[in-house]
Amino acid sequence: MAAISSVPGQLTAPADDFTAAEGILRRQAQRESAARTYARALPVVPVRARGMTVEGADGRRYLDCLSGAGTLALGHNHPVVLEAIRSVLDSGAPLHVLDLATPVKDDFTTALFETLPRELAEHGRIQFCGPAGTDAVEAAIKLARIATGRDGLLAFSGAYHGMTSAALAATGDTAVREAVRGPDTQVTRLPYPYDYRCPFGVGGDRGAALAARWTAHLLDDPKGGVQAPAAMLLEAVQGEGGVVPAPDGWLRRMRQITAERGIPLIVDEVQTGVGRTGTFWAVERSGIVPDVMVMSKAIGGSLPLAVIVYREEMDGWLPGAHAGTFRGNQLAMAAGTATLRFVRHNALHARADSLGTRMLRSLHGLAARHPCIGDVRGRGLMIGVEIVDTGGETDDHGALPAAPHLAAAVQREALRRGLIVELGGRHGSVIRLLPPLTITDEQAEAVLDRLAGAIEAARAAAPGAAA
Ligand code: PMP
Repeated sequence: MAAISSVPGQLTAPADDFTAAEGILRRQAQRESAARTYARALPVVPVRARGMTVEGADGRRYLDCLSGAGTLALGHNHPVVLEAIRSVLDSGAPLHVLDLATPVKDDFTTALFETLPRELAEHGRIQFCGPAGTDAVEAAIKLARIATGRDGLLAFSGAYHGMTSAALAATGDTAVREAVRGPDTQVTRLPYPYDYRCPFGVGGDRGAALAARWTAHLLDDPKGGVQAPAAMLLEAVQGEGGVVPAPDGWLRRMRQITAERGIPLIVDEVQTGVGRTGTFWAVERSGIVPDVMVMSKAIGGSLPLAVIVYREEMDGWLPGAHAGTFRGNQLAMAAGTATLRFVRHNALHARADSLGTRMLRSLHGLAARHPCIGDVRGRGLMIGVEIVDTGGETDDHGALPAAPHLAAAVQREALRRGLIVELGGRHGSVIRLLPPLTITDEQAEAVLDRLAGAIEAARAAAPGAAA
């Protein structure tokens, strides 16, 4: 076994462990699909993890700011999560129960409803979906189609909702959609307010107001080409789209526009939920209440779980309208219950809010020293740093072109320094920070230090580097 250094990223493992790790990576490259993703940019073979720290088979330690793509609200292997899983295992309860009622599920449902906006908590129905977020998105769209008798879907530029066909159709990335030959016919694509790269060239409240105006105008234009919509589907903070928070006023306008036209509003809280953005659910900040909320990732406490909660008036679908063998994951429900309660009782959403604000402030300071940081933004502990090409031409709103190669170099340099970060955004040039909500002040400092070092190193090595 490797001797573990207390300095993250430092190599202290015996040669055998490096060889073993290299062998595993080599076999992965030979045997696994070309469609693998994180594994390409992050050649790590995790063997142990606790909280924010992941230890590779080669003895390296990393601070994990990816957190299972925003899944691990409490970090890896939190004691309350492990305890919850153990208690189900030790109880002799069946692990597979389809969608039958169990005490574990009953408790999970109670814990989840305790966190929801009042209208949904009091008048909501829950559907347990297949285990992935995309399956819950699929269920939400299907439910809305059945409830309205309409087929169209309103979705936004930059959106990410998953990989199954209806969820994929709502995803904004045309390259991904074309690569997997996803259907696209019934989706009307609307502009998402993106301050830094404002589609209207003005940004701020004005840009958001124009985006809302475009939406209302298009919906009311009888010749606008919009297929009668079953729903509007949106993220309150776009995650994969590059950490783009929607202004509260714009969200309220979307709620108003959809309500006035009898269009159900589906909010995808798969990534934003469970405290991540500084409120328990991202919708709380603006005060809007969606007709359908889609939830996954953190609600399963690191195990697969996905649900939708929707207004009871919409509950007109027939038995079996959305089935699935794996809707009853008891371990995930127990882990999820423990996570929901721990976040709530320890007000980790408030912690995410205050620490996130401080991290954003530090990152703004970093941006002032590094012109290759075009924008810093986020909500709570969902943070994005957009890397740009300082040699390029600014657009009419002052944004520089994206610099995906430089961003990828920053990610590599971060990894060398023992920091795991994700890349996202429209051009893959946004460094995304999604630390667990349990991150300490010291860990946050270490994340910022390592990121600063990585940006300096990547910038210095970039061709024609000046800044
Ligand atoms: N919606 C959002 C907002 C997401 O971020 C994701 C995953 N990143 C999904 C849906 C899809 O979830 P899954 O990968 O579990 O299918």
